Amino acid sequence: MKIKAGLLACSTLLLAMVPMWLFVVGEIRHDRSTAHAAARADSMNLATAFEAHVRSVIQLMDAVLLNTREDVFEQPEYLSEHVADEIKAYGNFVSQLAIIDKNGLLTFSNLTAHAEPVDLSDREHFRVHRDNPLRDSLYISKPVLGRISKQWTIQFTRPIHHNGEFAGVIVLSVPTSFFSDYYQQIDVGPNGSIVLLGVDRTVRAIASGAPGASNIELYDQPELLENNVYFDPEGPMHGYFEGVTFIDGQYRLAAYRRLEEEGAVVVVLLSPEDFMAPFEERRQLLIASAGVISMLLLAVALLVFVLAGRHLRATAELRVAHKQMKELVNTDTLTGVSSRRYFLDRVTAELDRVRRHGGRVSLLMLDIDHFKQVNDQYGHPGGDIVLKHFAAVCKRTLRSHDLIGRLGGEEFVVALPETELEGAHCVAEKLRLAVASTPIDLENGPVAITVSIGLTTSSSDPEESLQSLMSRADAALYAAKQSGRNKVCVAGGGQSALNVSQDVGVGNERVR
Ligand code: GH3
Ligand code: MG
Ligand code: MG
Repeated sequence: MKIKAGLLACSTLLLAMVPMWLFVVGEIRHDRSTAHAAARADSMNLATAFEAHVRSVIQLMDAVLLNTREDVFEQPEYLSEHVADEIKAYGNFVSQLAIIDKNGLLTFSNLTAHAEPVDLSDREHFRVHRDNPLRDSLYISKPVLGRISKQWTIQFTRPIHHNGEFAGVIVLSVPTSFFSDYYQQIDVGPNGSIVLLGVDRTVRAIASGAPGASNIELYDQPELLENNVYFDPEGPMHGYFEGVTFIDGQYRLAAYRRLEEEGAVVVVLLSPEDFMAPFEERRQLLIASAGVISMLLLAVALLVFVLAGRHLRATAELRVAHKQMKELVNTDTLTGVSSRRYFLDRVTAELDRVRRHGGRVSLLMLDIDHFKQVNDQYGHPGGDIVLKHFAAVCKRTLRSHDLIGRLGGEEFVVALPETELEGAHCVAEKLRLAVASTPIDLENGPVAITVSIGLTTSSSDPEESLQSLMSRADAALYAAKQSGRNKVCVAGGGQSALNVSQDVGVGNERVR
Protein backbone atom coordinates (compact mmCIF):
# COMPACT_ATOMS: atom_id res chain seq x y z
CA MET A 1 0.00 0.00 0.00
CA LYS A 2 2.77 2.37 1.02
CA ILE A 3 4.76 1.38 -2.06
CA LYS A 4 1.77 2.12 -4.30
CA ALA A 5 1.18 5.50 -2.65
CA GLY A 6 4.91 6.23 -2.84
CA LEU A 7 4.99 5.37 -6.54
CA LEU A 8 2.00 7.62 -7.18
CA ALA A 9 3.60 10.50 -5.26
CA CYS A 10 6.94 9.99 -7.01
CA SER A 11 5.38 9.90 -10.47
CA THR A 12 3.35 13.04 -9.66
CA LEU A 13 6.55 14.69 -8.52
CA LEU A 14 8.50 13.57 -11.59
CA LEU A 15 5.71 14.55 -13.98
CA ALA A 16 5.76 18.11 -12.66
CA MET A 17 9.43 18.41 -11.77
CA VAL A 18 11.10 17.02 -14.90
CA PRO A 19 9.39 19.35 -17.44
CA MET A 20 9.93 22.31 -15.12
CA TRP A 21 13.65 21.69 -14.72
CA LEU A 22 14.01 20.92 -18.44
CA PHE A 23 12.42 24.30 -19.12
CA VAL A 24 14.73 26.03 -16.62
CA VAL A 25 17.84 24.40 -18.07
CA GLY A 26 16.70 25.24 -21.63
CA GLU A 27 15.98 28.83 -20.64
CA ILE A 28 19.39 29.17 -18.96
CA ARG A 29 21.15 27.80 -22.02
CA HIS A 30 19.22 30.12 -24.30
CA ASP A 31 19.94 33.13 -22.05
CA ARG A 32 23.61 32.27 -21.90
CA SER A 33 23.99 32.08 -25.67
CA THR A 34 21.93 35.28 -26.12
CA ALA A 35 24.08 37.18 -23.61
CA HIS A 36 27.21 35.88 -25.29
CA ALA A 37 26.01 36.79 -28.79
CA ALA A 38 25.06 40.29 -27.58
CA ALA A 39 28.53 40.74 -26.06
CA ARG A 40 30.18 39.69 -29.33
CA ALA A 41 28.06 42.19 -31.25
CA ASP A 42 28.82 44.94 -28.71
CA SER A 43 32.55 44.32 -28.75
CA MET A 44 32.69 44.38 -32.55
CA ASN A 45 30.64 47.60 -32.70
CA LEU A 46 33.05 49.26 -30.28
CA ALA A 47 36.05 47.95 -32.20
CA THR A 48 34.62 49.38 -35.44
CA ALA A 49 34.15 52.81 -33.87
CA PHE A 50 37.59 52.55 -32.33
CA GLU A 51 39.15 51.69 -35.69
CA ALA A 52 37.50 54.71 -37.37
CA HIS A 53 38.84 56.98 -34.63
CA VAL A 54 42.38 55.63 -34.80
CA ARG A 55 42.40 55.90 -38.56
CA SER A 56 41.27 59.52 -38.50
CA VAL A 57 43.79 60.46 -35.77
CA ILE A 58 46.62 58.86 -37.76
CA GLN A 59 45.57 60.70 -40.93
CA LEU A 60 45.40 63.97 -39.04
CA MET A 61 48.83 63.43 -37.47
CA ASP A 62 50.30 62.63 -40.86
CA ALA A 63 48.75 65.77 -42.35
CA VAL A 64 50.30 67.88 -39.58
CA LEU A 65 53.66 66.19 -40.15
CA LEU A 66 53.59 66.75 -43.92
CA ASN A 67 52.46 70.34 -43.47
CA THR A 68 55.19 71.13 -41.00
CA ARG A 69 57.85 69.34 -43.05
CA GLU A 70 57.11 71.63 -45.97
CA ASP A 71 57.71 74.64 -43.75
CA VAL A 72 61.03 73.27 -42.59
CA PHE A 73 62.40 73.93 -46.08
CA GLU A 74 60.22 76.68 -47.38
CA GLN A 75 60.11 79.01 -44.40
CA PRO A 76 62.64 77.72 -41.84
CA GLU A 77 62.74 81.13 -40.18
CA TYR A 78 59.01 80.88 -39.43
CA LEU A 79 59.15 77.30 -38.29
CA SER A 80 58.60 78.14 -34.62
CA GLU A 81 55.59 80.27 -35.43
CA HIS A 82 54.20 77.64 -37.75
CA VAL A 83 54.67 74.93 -35.16
CA ALA A 84 53.12 77.16 -32.55
CA ASP A 85 50.09 77.55 -34.85
CA GLU A 86 49.85 73.82 -35.38
CA ILE A 87 50.18 73.12 -31.69
CA LYS A 88 47.54 75.70 -31.01
CA ALA A 89 45.21 73.93 -33.38
CA TYR A 90 45.94 70.40 -32.17
CA GLY A 91 47.55 71.18 -28.84
CA ASN A 92 45.05 69.20 -26.85
CA PHE A 93 46.52 65.98 -28.15
CA VAL A 94 50.00 66.86 -29.43
CA SER A 95 52.57 67.07 -26.69
CA GLN A 96 55.64 67.88 -28.79
CA LEU A 97 56.71 68.63 -32.32
CA ALA A 98 60.41 68.08 -32.82
CA ILE A 99 63.04 67.81 -35.53
CA ILE A 100 66.01 65.45 -35.32
CA ASP A 101 68.93 66.02 -37.67
CA LYS A 102 70.57 63.32 -39.74
CA ASN A 103 72.94 62.51 -36.83
CA GLY A 104 70.13 61.93 -34.37
CA LEU A 105 70.50 65.23 -32.49
CA LEU A 106 67.37 67.07 -31.49
CA THR A 107 67.61 70.39 -33.33
CA PHE A 108 64.14 71.73 -32.74
CA SER A 109 61.41 71.21 -30.16
CA ASN A 110 58.52 73.41 -29.41
CA LEU A 111 59.02 72.49 -25.75
CA THR A 112 62.66 73.67 -25.36
CA ALA A 113 63.65 76.69 -27.39
CA HIS A 114 67.42 76.77 -26.93
CA ALA A 115 68.35 73.79 -24.85
CA GLU A 116 71.39 71.59 -25.21
CA PRO A 117 70.98 69.26 -28.23
CA VAL A 118 69.74 65.89 -26.99
CA ASP A 119 71.05 62.75 -28.69
CA LEU A 120 68.11 60.71 -29.92
CA SER A 121 70.02 58.54 -32.38
CA ASP A 122 69.18 55.42 -30.35
CA ARG A 123 65.42 55.97 -30.72
CA GLU A 124 63.79 53.49 -32.98
CA HIS A 125 61.71 56.16 -34.68
CA PHE A 126 64.98 57.83 -35.78
CA ARG A 127 66.77 54.63 -36.74
CA VAL A 128 63.93 53.27 -38.83
CA HIS A 129 64.13 56.30 -41.17
CA ARG A 130 67.94 56.55 -41.14
CA ASP A 131 68.19 52.85 -42.07
CA ASN A 132 65.68 53.25 -44.94
CA PRO A 133 66.78 56.65 -46.23
CA LEU A 134 64.83 56.55 -49.47
CA ARG A 135 61.47 55.52 -48.10
CA ASP A 136 59.13 58.37 -47.26
CA SER A 137 56.58 56.72 -45.03
CA LEU A 138 54.79 57.44 -41.79
CA TYR A 139 56.13 55.56 -38.78
CA ILE A 140 54.26 55.17 -35.53
CA SER A 141 56.49 54.24 -32.64
CA LYS A 142 55.96 52.22 -29.50
CA PRO A 143 55.27 54.35 -26.43
CA VAL A 144 58.47 56.00 -25.23
CA LEU A 145 59.09 57.98 -22.09
CA GLY A 146 59.97 61.47 -23.31
CA ARG A 147 63.38 62.70 -22.20
CA ILE A 148 62.13 66.24 -22.34
CA SER A 149 58.36 65.85 -21.89
CA LYS A 150 58.76 63.10 -19.23
CA GLN A 151 55.56 61.50 -20.33
CA TRP A 152 54.70 58.34 -22.24
CA THR A 153 54.16 59.29 -25.84
CA ILE A 154 53.73 57.66 -29.20
CA GLN A 155 55.82 59.20 -31.96
CA PHE A 156 54.39 59.84 -35.38
CA THR A 157 57.41 60.39 -37.62
CA ARG A 158 58.34 61.11 -41.22
CA PRO A 159 61.83 61.43 -42.71
CA ILE A 160 63.17 64.75 -44.00
CA HIS A 161 64.99 64.55 -47.31
CA HIS A 162 67.27 67.26 -48.67
CA ASN A 163 68.62 67.06 -52.16
CA GLY A 164 67.57 63.42 -52.36
CA GLU A 165 69.45 62.51 -49.18
CA PHE A 166 68.31 61.67 -45.66
CA ALA A 167 68.44 64.90 -43.65
CA GLY A 168 66.64 64.06 -40.45
CA VAL A 169 63.31 63.14 -38.92
CA ILE A 170 60.28 65.18 -38.03
CA VAL A 171 58.54 63.93 -34.89
CA LEU A 172 55.07 64.50 -33.56
CA SER A 173 54.57 63.14 -30.03
CA VAL A 174 51.11 62.19 -28.93
CA PRO A 175 50.69 61.12 -25.30
CA THR A 176 49.33 57.64 -24.86
CA SER A 177 46.85 59.26 -22.51
CA PHE A 178 45.29 60.98 -25.53
CA PHE A 179 44.02 57.60 -26.62
CA SER A 180 43.53 56.06 -23.22
CA ASP A 181 41.71 59.06 -21.71
CA TYR A 182 39.41 59.15 -24.67
CA TYR A 183 38.63 55.41 -24.58
CA GLN A 184 38.32 55.50 -20.83
CA GLN A 185 35.02 57.28 -21.39
CA ILE A 186 33.63 54.31 -23.33
CA ASP A 187 31.84 51.81 -21.17
CA VAL A 188 33.45 48.41 -21.61
CA GLY A 189 32.48 47.22 -18.14
CA PRO A 190 34.63 47.37 -14.99
CA ASN A 191 36.88 44.56 -16.23
CA GLY A 192 36.98 45.36 -19.94
CA SER A 193 39.70 47.20 -21.88
CA ILE A 194 40.26 48.96 -25.17
CA VAL A 195 43.74 48.43 -26.54
CA LEU A 196 45.65 49.92 -29.43
CA LEU A 197 48.38 47.54 -30.56
CA GLY A 198 51.09 47.72 -33.16
CA VAL A 199 51.40 44.83 -35.58
CA ASP A 200 54.94 44.58 -34.15
CA ARG A 201 53.18 43.01 -31.12
CA THR A 202 53.61 45.92 -28.72
CA VAL A 203 51.02 47.93 -26.86
CA ARG A 204 50.55 51.49 -28.13
CA ALA A 205 47.80 52.62 -25.78
CA ILE A 206 45.36 51.00 -23.43
CA ALA A 207 42.27 52.06 -21.53
CA SER A 208 40.71 49.91 -18.87
CA GLY A 209 37.14 49.87 -17.80
CA ALA A 210 38.17 50.08 -14.16
CA PRO A 211 38.32 53.77 -13.23
CA GLY A 212 41.82 54.92 -12.27
CA ALA A 213 43.48 51.71 -13.48
CA SER A 214 46.97 52.24 -14.79
CA ASN A 215 48.44 50.12 -17.52
CA ILE A 216 51.69 52.04 -17.81
CA GLU A 217 53.76 48.92 -17.13
CA LEU A 218 52.47 47.44 -20.37
CA TYR A 219 54.12 50.26 -22.36
CA ASP A 220 57.49 49.38 -20.95
CA GLN A 221 57.37 45.68 -21.74
CA PRO A 222 60.65 44.52 -23.22
CA GLU A 223 59.04 41.32 -24.45
CA LEU A 224 56.75 41.13 -27.42
CA LEU A 225 53.16 40.06 -26.88
CA GLU A 226 52.45 36.45 -27.60
CA ASN A 227 51.45 35.81 -31.16
CA ASN A 228 47.78 35.93 -31.80
CA VAL A 229 45.25 35.96 -34.60
CA TYR A 230 45.24 39.80 -34.39
CA PHE A 231 48.79 40.05 -35.66
CA ASP A 232 48.63 37.37 -38.34
CA PRO A 233 48.90 39.19 -41.71
CA GLU A 234 47.41 36.09 -43.37
CA GLY A 235 44.46 35.99 -40.96
CA PRO A 236 41.16 37.84 -41.29
CA MET A 237 41.27 41.64 -40.88
CA HIS A 238 38.75 41.51 -38.11
CA GLY A 239 37.30 38.85 -35.88
CA TYR A 240 37.08 37.48 -32.38
CA PHE A 241 39.34 35.78 -29.92
CA GLU A 242 38.24 34.14 -26.72
CA GLY A 243 40.70 33.05 -24.12
CA VAL A 244 43.23 34.20 -21.59
CA THR A 245 44.72 37.51 -22.71
CA PHE A 246 48.09 39.15 -22.18
CA ILE A 247 46.56 42.21 -20.50
CA ASP A 248 45.64 40.70 -17.16
CA GLY A 249 46.00 36.99 -17.70
CA GLN A 250 42.23 36.64 -17.43
CA TYR A 251 39.69 35.00 -19.70
CA ARG A 252 38.29 37.63 -22.07
CA LEU A 253 36.14 37.99 -25.18
CA ALA A 254 38.09 40.08 -27.69
CA ALA A 255 36.91 41.72 -30.89
CA TYR A 256 39.79 42.97 -33.05
CA ARG A 257 40.19 45.00 -36.22
CA ARG A 258 43.54 45.25 -37.94
CA LEU A 259 44.54 48.46 -39.75
CA GLU A 260 46.94 46.91 -42.23
CA GLU A 261 48.29 50.15 -43.71
CA GLU A 262 48.73 51.87 -40.39
CA GLY A 263 50.33 48.78 -38.85
CA ALA A 264 47.92 48.90 -35.94
CA VAL A 265 45.34 46.63 -34.36
CA VAL A 266 42.44 47.81 -32.25
CA VAL A 267 41.14 45.33 -29.70
CA VAL A 268 38.08 45.58 -27.46
CA LEU A 269 38.27 43.17 -24.55
CA LEU A 270 35.12 42.38 -22.62
CA SER A 271 35.02 40.33 -19.45
CA PRO A 272 32.44 37.54 -19.03
CA GLU A 273 32.21 38.73 -15.43
CA ASP A 274 30.69 41.96 -16.76
CA PHE A 275 28.66 40.97 -19.78
CA MET A 276 27.34 37.76 -18.20
CA ALA A 277 26.35 39.51 -14.95
CA PRO A 278 22.68 40.14 -15.93
CA PHE A 279 22.47 36.57 -17.19
CA GLU A 280 23.97 35.31 -13.92
CA GLU A 281 21.37 37.26 -11.96
CA ARG A 282 18.55 35.85 -14.06
CA ARG A 283 20.02 32.37 -13.83
CA GLN A 284 20.13 32.54 -10.05
CA LEU A 285 16.58 33.90 -9.99
CA LEU A 286 15.39 31.08 -12.25
CA ILE A 287 17.12 28.43 -10.18
CA ALA A 288 15.84 29.92 -6.93
CA SER A 289 12.27 30.08 -8.32
CA ALA A 290 12.50 26.53 -9.61
CA GLY A 291 13.89 25.49 -6.23
CA VAL A 292 10.94 27.07 -4.40
CA ILE A 293 8.49 25.46 -6.84
CA SER A 294 10.28 22.13 -6.35
CA MET A 295 9.80 22.43 -2.59
CA LEU A 296 6.11 23.16 -3.12
CA LEU A 297 5.85 20.20 -5.47
CA LEU A 298 7.57 18.08 -2.87
CA ALA A 299 4.94 19.17 -0.37
CA VAL A 300 2.22 18.33 -2.91
CA ALA A 301 3.82 14.94 -3.52
CA LEU A 302 3.87 14.35 0.22
CA LEU A 303 0.19 15.25 0.35
CA VAL A 304 -0.47 12.90 -2.57
CA PHE A 305 1.44 10.22 -0.71
CA VAL A 306 -0.65 10.67 2.44
CA LEU A 307 -3.99 10.99 0.62
CA ALA A 308 -3.22 8.16 -1.78
CA GLY A 309 -2.20 5.99 1.18
CA ARG A 310 -5.49 6.77 2.89
CA HIS A 311 -7.48 6.22 -0.29
CA LEU A 312 -5.76 2.93 -1.04
CA ARG A 313 -6.26 1.76 2.53
CA ALA A 314 -9.92 2.71 2.37
CA THR A 315 -10.27 0.97 -0.99
CA ALA A 316 -8.65 -2.19 0.36
CA GLU A 317 -10.91 -2.11 3.41
CA LEU A 318 -13.88 -1.58 1.13
CA ARG A 319 -12.79 -4.53 -1.00
CA VAL A 320 -12.52 -6.74 2.08
CA ALA A 321 -15.92 -5.50 3.29
CA HIS A 322 -17.38 -6.14 -0.15
CA LYS A 323 -15.95 -9.65 -0.15
CA GLN A 324 -17.33 -10.28 3.32
CA MET A 325 -20.70 -8.90 2.29
CA LYS A 326 -20.73 -11.08 -0.79
CA GLU A 327 -19.89 -14.10 1.31
CA LEU A 328 -22.60 -13.09 3.70
CA VAL A 329 -25.14 -12.74 0.91
CA ASN A 330 -24.02 -15.96 -0.75
CA THR A 331 -23.89 -18.00 2.44
CA ASP A 332 -26.60 -19.05 4.81
CA THR A 333 -25.39 -17.70 8.13
CA LEU A 334 -26.81 -20.45 10.29
CA THR A 335 -25.63 -23.52 8.39
CA GLY A 336 -22.76 -22.19 6.24
CA VAL A 337 -24.19 -23.70 3.02
CA SER A 338 -25.06 -21.52 -0.02
CA SER A 339 -27.92 -19.08 0.36
CA ARG A 340 -31.05 -19.74 -1.68
CA ARG A 341 -30.26 -17.01 -4.23
CA TYR A 342 -26.60 -17.95 -4.68
CA PHE A 343 -27.49 -21.61 -5.02
CA LEU A 344 -30.11 -20.86 -7.70
CA ASP A 345 -27.60 -18.63 -9.58
CA ARG A 346 -25.00 -21.37 -9.60
CA VAL A 347 -27.44 -24.08 -10.70
CA THR A 348 -28.74 -21.79 -13.46
CA ALA A 349 -25.14 -21.40 -14.66
CA GLU A 350 -24.63 -25.16 -14.47
CA LEU A 351 -27.80 -25.75 -16.51
CA ASP A 352 -26.56 -23.28 -19.13
CA ARG A 353 -23.31 -25.16 -19.33
CA VAL A 354 -25.18 -28.45 -19.72
CA ARG A 355 -27.31 -26.90 -22.46
CA ARG A 356 -24.19 -25.90 -24.39
CA HIS A 357 -21.96 -28.89 -23.79
CA GLY A 358 -24.45 -31.65 -22.94
CA GLY A 359 -24.47 -33.88 -19.84
CA ARG A 360 -26.83 -34.05 -16.88
CA VAL A 361 -27.49 -32.30 -13.61
CA SER A 362 -29.41 -34.07 -10.85
CA LEU A 363 -31.35 -32.17 -8.23
CA LEU A 364 -32.18 -33.38 -4.70
CA MET A 365 -34.82 -31.65 -2.59
CA LEU A 366 -34.35 -32.43 1.13
CA ASP A 367 -36.75 -31.77 4.03
CA ILE A 368 -36.13 -32.84 7.62
CA ASP A 369 -38.93 -35.00 8.88
CA HIS A 370 -41.12 -33.72 11.71
CA PHE A 371 -38.77 -30.87 12.44
CA LYS A 372 -41.52 -28.98 14.13
CA GLN A 373 -41.41 -31.59 16.88
CA VAL A 374 -37.66 -31.03 17.32
CA ASN A 375 -38.35 -27.33 17.82
CA ASP A 376 -41.20 -28.08 20.13
CA GLN A 377 -39.10 -30.47 22.17
CA TYR A 378 -35.70 -28.76 22.23
CA GLY A 379 -36.67 -25.19 21.60
CA HIS A 380 -35.70 -23.01 18.67
CA PRO A 381 -31.97 -22.91 19.64
CA GLY A 382 -31.96 -26.67 19.81
CA GLY A 383 -33.60 -26.76 16.39
CA ASP A 384 -30.85 -24.46 15.08
CA ILE A 385 -28.16 -26.82 16.35
CA VAL A 386 -29.91 -29.68 14.57
CA LEU A 387 -30.06 -27.64 11.33
CA LYS A 388 -26.33 -26.90 11.55
CA HIS A 389 -25.56 -30.50 12.28
CA PHE A 390 -27.74 -31.68 9.40
CA ALA A 391 -25.95 -29.30 6.95
CA ALA A 392 -22.54 -30.49 8.20
CA VAL A 393 -23.49 -34.16 7.68
CA CYS A 394 -24.71 -33.39 4.14
CA LYS A 395 -21.54 -31.43 3.25
CA ARG A 396 -19.37 -34.18 4.61
CA THR A 397 -21.20 -36.78 2.52
CA LEU A 398 -21.17 -34.79 -0.75
CA ARG A 399 -18.27 -34.30 -3.18
CA SER A 400 -16.50 -30.94 -3.26
CA HIS A 401 -17.98 -29.88 -6.58
CA ASP A 402 -21.57 -30.77 -5.56
CA LEU A 403 -23.68 -27.75 -4.65
CA ILE A 404 -25.81 -27.47 -1.52
CA GLY A 405 -28.09 -24.61 -0.56
CA ARG A 406 -30.72 -23.83 2.07
CA LEU A 407 -34.05 -22.97 0.49
CA GLY A 408 -35.54 -21.91 3.84
CA GLY A 409 -36.55 -23.43 7.18
CA GLU A 410 -35.47 -27.04 7.25
CA GLU A 411 -35.57 -27.41 3.47
CA PHE A 412 -32.31 -27.90 1.60
CA VAL A 413 -31.44 -28.53 -2.03
CA VAL A 414 -28.50 -30.31 -3.59
CA ALA A 415 -27.31 -30.13 -7.22
CA LEU A 416 -25.07 -32.87 -8.54
CA PRO A 417 -23.29 -31.81 -11.73
CA GLU A 418 -22.41 -34.47 -14.32
CA THR A 419 -24.53 -37.06 -12.45
CA GLU A 420 -27.09 -39.37 -14.04
CA LEU A 421 -30.21 -40.48 -12.21
CA GLU A 422 -28.72 -43.73 -10.94
CA GLY A 423 -25.67 -42.03 -9.49
CA ALA A 424 -27.84 -39.32 -7.98
CA HIS A 425 -30.04 -41.94 -6.38
CA CYS A 426 -26.99 -43.45 -4.69
CA VAL A 427 -25.94 -40.06 -3.38
CA ALA A 428 -29.48 -39.43 -2.05
CA GLU A 429 -29.47 -42.77 -0.27
CA LYS A 430 -26.07 -42.06 1.18
CA LEU A 431 -27.36 -38.75 2.50
CA ARG A 432 -30.53 -40.25 3.93
CA LEU A 433 -28.60 -43.00 5.73
CA ALA A 434 -25.90 -40.62 7.00
CA VAL A 435 -28.55 -38.33 8.52
CA ALA A 436 -30.50 -41.18 10.02
CA SER A 437 -27.42 -42.79 11.51
CA THR A 438 -25.94 -39.63 13.06
CA PRO A 439 -27.79 -38.61 16.20
CA ILE A 440 -27.16 -35.09 17.43
CA ASP A 441 -26.04 -34.33 20.98
CA LEU A 442 -28.22 -31.71 22.52
CA GLU A 443 -28.30 -30.59 26.16
CA ASN A 444 -31.25 -32.86 26.92
CA GLY A 445 -29.62 -35.84 25.28
CA PRO A 446 -29.11 -37.15 21.74
CA VAL A 447 -31.75 -36.54 19.09
CA ALA A 448 -32.13 -38.62 15.96
CA ILE A 449 -33.58 -37.12 12.81
CA THR A 450 -34.49 -38.42 9.39
CA VAL A 451 -34.78 -36.71 6.04
CA SER A 452 -37.07 -37.16 3.07
CA ILE A 453 -35.54 -36.60 -0.37
CA GLY A 454 -37.10 -35.92 -3.74
CA LEU A 455 -34.81 -36.60 -6.68
CA THR A 456 -34.84 -35.69 -10.35
CA THR A 457 -32.44 -35.28 -13.26
CA SER A 458 -32.36 -32.69 -16.04
CA SER A 459 -34.01 -33.87 -19.23
CA SER A 460 -32.55 -33.72 -22.72
CA ASP A 461 -34.92 -30.84 -23.54
CA PRO A 462 -32.70 -27.77 -23.98
CA GLU A 463 -35.61 -25.49 -23.04
CA GLU A 464 -36.11 -27.10 -19.65
CA SER A 465 -35.98 -24.47 -16.92
CA LEU A 466 -34.63 -24.66 -13.43
CA GLN A 467 -38.11 -23.95 -12.22
CA SER A 468 -39.52 -27.10 -13.81
CA LEU A 469 -36.61 -29.14 -12.50
CA MET A 470 -37.29 -27.89 -9.00
CA SER A 471 -41.00 -28.50 -9.29
CA ARG A 472 -40.29 -32.11 -10.26
CA ALA A 473 -37.92 -32.60 -7.35
CA ASP A 474 -40.46 -30.94 -5.05
CA ALA A 475 -43.17 -33.31 -6.25
CA ALA A 476 -40.88 -36.26 -5.62
CA LEU A 477 -40.19 -34.90 -2.12
CA TYR A 478 -43.90 -34.59 -1.52
CA ALA A 479 -44.28 -38.17 -2.61
CA ALA A 480 -41.53 -39.23 -0.20
CA LYS A 481 -43.34 -37.48 2.63
CA GLN A 482 -46.60 -39.04 1.60
CA SER A 483 -45.14 -42.48 1.50
CA GLY A 484 -44.02 -42.37 5.11
CA ARG A 485 -40.91 -40.11 5.30
CA ASN A 486 -37.21 -41.09 5.64
CA LYS A 487 -37.42 -42.02 1.97
CA VAL A 488 -35.92 -41.13 -1.38
CA CYS A 489 -38.41 -40.63 -4.18
CA VAL A 490 -37.38 -40.30 -7.79
CA ALA A 491 -39.22 -38.22 -10.38
CA GLY A 492 -38.86 -39.43 -13.96
CA GLY A 493 -37.50 -37.35 -16.90
CA GLY A 494 -40.96 -36.09 -18.06
CA GLN A 495 -42.26 -32.94 -16.40
CA SER A 496 -45.74 -34.25 -15.76
CA ALA A 497 -45.04 -37.94 -15.66
CA LEU A 498 -44.74 -38.35 -11.93
CA ASN A 499 -45.07 -41.85 -10.70
CA VAL A 500 -44.47 -43.18 -7.25
CA SER A 501 -43.46 -46.71 -6.60
CA GLN A 502 -42.07 -48.56 -3.64
CA ASP A 503 -38.36 -48.99 -4.22
CA VAL A 504 -36.24 -51.87 -3.13
CA GLY A 505 -35.13 -51.55 0.51
CA VAL A 506 -36.75 -49.97 3.53
CA GLY A 507 -37.74 -46.34 3.26
CA ASN A 508 -37.35 -45.97 -0.48
CA GLU A 509 -40.05 -44.74 -2.81
CA ARG A 510 -39.89 -44.25 -6.59
CA VAL A 511 -41.96 -41.58 -8.19
CA ARG A 512 -42.88 -42.33 -11.79
P1 GH3 B 1 -42.70 -32.66 7.83
O1 GH3 B 1 -42.16 -33.96 8.22
O2 GH3 B 1 -44.02 -32.79 7.16
O3 GH3 B 1 -41.75 -31.89 7.05
O4 GH3 B 1 -42.98 -31.93 9.16
P2 GH3 B 1 -42.29 -30.66 9.70
O5 GH3 B 1 -42.65 -30.46 11.08
O6 GH3 B 1 -40.83 -30.73 9.46
O7 GH3 B 1 -42.89 -29.61 8.72
P3 GH3 B 1 -43.18 -28.06 8.80
O8 GH3 B 1 -42.72 -27.45 7.45
O9 GH3 B 1 -44.61 -27.87 9.12
O10 GH3 B 1 -42.31 -27.46 9.94
C1 GH3 B 1 -41.11 -26.87 9.73
C2 GH3 B 1 -40.72 -26.14 10.95
O11 GH3 B 1 -39.38 -25.70 10.93
C3 GH3 B 1 -41.57 -24.94 11.20
C4 GH3 B 1 -40.60 -23.88 11.76
O12 GH3 B 1 -40.86 -23.51 13.07
C5 GH3 B 1 -39.25 -24.58 11.76
N1 GH3 B 1 -38.19 -23.71 11.34
C6 GH3 B 1 -38.14 -23.04 10.15
N2 GH3 B 1 -36.96 -22.35 10.10
C7 GH3 B 1 -36.28 -22.59 11.25
C8 GH3 B 1 -35.02 -22.18 11.78
O13 GH3 B 1 -34.27 -21.44 11.17
N3 GH3 B 1 -34.66 -22.64 13.01
C9 GH3 B 1 -35.45 -23.47 13.71
N4 GH3 B 1 -35.07 -23.90 14.90
N5 GH3 B 1 -36.64 -23.85 13.26
C10 GH3 B 1 -37.08 -23.45 12.04
MG1 MG C 1 -40.81 -28.28 5.64
MG1 MG D 1 -40.04 -31.00 7.55
